[in-house]
Amino acid sequence: MRERWPVLVFAALMAAIPFVPDVPPFWIVLLDNIGLSALVAMGLVLLTGVGGLTSFGQAAFVGFGAYTTAVLTTAYGVSPWLALPASLAVSGIAAILLGLVTVRLSGHYLPLGTIAWGLGLFYLFSKLEFLGRNDGISAIPPLSIGALKMLDPGTIYYAIWIAVFVSALLTLNLLDSRTGRAIRALRRGHIAAEAFGVQTPRAKLLVFIHAAVLAGLSGWLYAHFQRAVNPTPFGAQAGIEYLFIAVVGGAGYVWGGVLGAAIVVVLKEVLQSYLPLLLHGEGQLEIIVFGILLVALLQLAPTGVWALVMSWLPVKAARKRPDVSLKLSPRERAPHEGGVLLQLEKARKQFGGVVAVNDVSFAVRPREIVALIGPNGAGKSTTFNLITGVLTATSGSISVLGKRLRNPPPQEVVKLGVARTFQHVKLVPDMSVLENVAIGAHLRGHAGPLASMFRLDRTDEAKLFAEAARQIERVGLAEQIDQPAGSLSLGQQRIVEIARALCADPLLLLLDEPAAGLRHMEKQRLAALLRQLRDGGMSVLLVEHDMGFVMDLADRVVVLDFGTKIAEGTPDAIKTNPEVIRAYLGAAA
Ligand code: ADP
Ligand code: MG
Repeated sequence: MRERWPVLVFAALMAAIPFVPDVPPFWIVLLDNIGLSALVAMGLVLLTGVGGLTSFGQAAFVGFGAYTTAVLTTAYGVSPWLALPASLAVSGIAAILLGLVTVRLSGHYLPLGTIAWGLGLFYLFSKLEFLGRNDGISAIPPLSIGALKMLDPGTIYYAIWIAVFVSALLTLNLLDSRTGRAIRALRRGHIAAEAFGVQTPRAKLLVFIHAAVLAGLSGWLYAHFQRAVNPTPFGAQAGIEYLFIAVVGGAGYVWGGVLGAAIVVVLKEVLQSYLPLLLHGEGQLEIIVFGILLVALLQLAPTGVWALVMSWLPVKAARKRPDVSLKLSPRERAPHEGGVLLQLEKARKQFGGVVAVNDVSFAVRPREIVALIGPNGAGKSTTFNLITGVLTATSGSISVLGKRLRNPPPQEVVKLGVARTFQHVKLVPDMSVLENVAIGAHLRGHAGPLASMFRLDRTDEAKLFAEAARQIERVGLAEQIDQPAGSLSLGQQRIVEIARALCADPLLLLLDEPAAGLRHMEKQRLAALLRQLRDGGMSVLLVEHDMGFVMDLADRVVVLDFGTKIAEGTPDAIKTNPEVIRAYLGAAA
């Protein structure tokens, strides 16, 4: 998906810098600091920029990493290299504990929660006796390999930047995977991802852990670089600064974290060294100027400076075409006896005083296209949400394949073979059509996050993409396969959602207004596709306002009005039903 050579060039450049004759040692120190901040910012990119979870508390995880190695190496004489896994583990475990509490918060509460833990942990660091209270811990041993002691900034430089490059590659690999696509879908809300089986709380916790482990790594390096730790660099102010770095660099991009670290660290340094000279030592002004400059930068490049840089760089290589001969194994599911696929019995949903769905009963049988019609606000979308577990019914029952669902989470419903599209399109706009559609096959892939980081998921991935490409071709969007989904017309985006649903290998397809925004020819193609799916053994339940389309296509029609089922029958019977004409067709015709 991405070109490797710019990274190699960058790595070669960074490796060469310490060998440049007369490079000021101070520059090396600056680069060391940039690398340390970049590691933390990279985690924030994943957490905030990609996953949409804003954290002001990352500095605390740096503290966990730093203090863990400080204690182990000074009080217990453990080698720094053995302390490394401990530092990462302590940060990771802290992230699990804090994450379990925090990821369930939403809106403003999440960032507030992270501020709270940031303040709390800072207080803890500065009060605990064995962490040296405010004085911290000193005389931390340097990193060493054999006789080489990484005492000076020029040698630990390599440790820091190798960590940066390795972390960046692992993070990029993770993002470009089954798990990564699930993470990238989080920012657009949970509903679409969960409809295809993504366990969103688990995905969020995973990014929390990933970000915390990167911060812990930074802390471990920091402790052996400074050879002393105290609470100050792990406080709330540092937490804010890390978030700044990620946002300035471009919170959606891994390399944006590195660039942001470079910009912020250099800017701070320049202002601290030169501003007092210009202003004759008027204290603290640099913080104000720093703030103004950062705000100006964000005005210039609202999506981060990296996005600007990317637009100057030559276009990146397209992903190679999926090999469509690869096959995913069909979904395992309970034996299907050929009875009723979906049965609603007196399903009811009330929102306060509004009865959105009023004791509605109907069934969908195998190989059948059923249309659910009715005026706006009749309760059609709410019915879909009840079936798919997005909403819980107030009363009544819903069964899929004879199995009664009791408040099932959406992830369970899709496992039974029910896949859906949304009236308000829910795609990830900056992800390609192919990647969006591949989310539909989430349950049919198996690779976990660790396998993805180390690129052990390639066969699994190739199969997922092959399946996605096949479905994209089937719905007629092969030409748009590599385009960002957000660049397609709304009608085409609805079709992308159908391809995504087909990737789940469903028995029952729920389509909420699939033909809205399509031109006449496109509607005919869609109708032909749905017939073909039915003849292949699938059932379709669709909501649609285009009566020509519905009456031509449906085997049976269910009519809702004010949440109540007023009629059910063949298209011909419905067209002449007086009550339907009064409530709906009269107005629609
Ligand atoms: P349709 O899809 O048939 O146009 P909906 O199912 O979207 O209708 O809505 C049915 C009724 O339920 C409407 O009166 C709508 O305002 C109400 N409704 C839908 N969702 C909610 C909600 N989350 N909270 C409160 N009322 C809702
Ligand atoms: Mg609707």
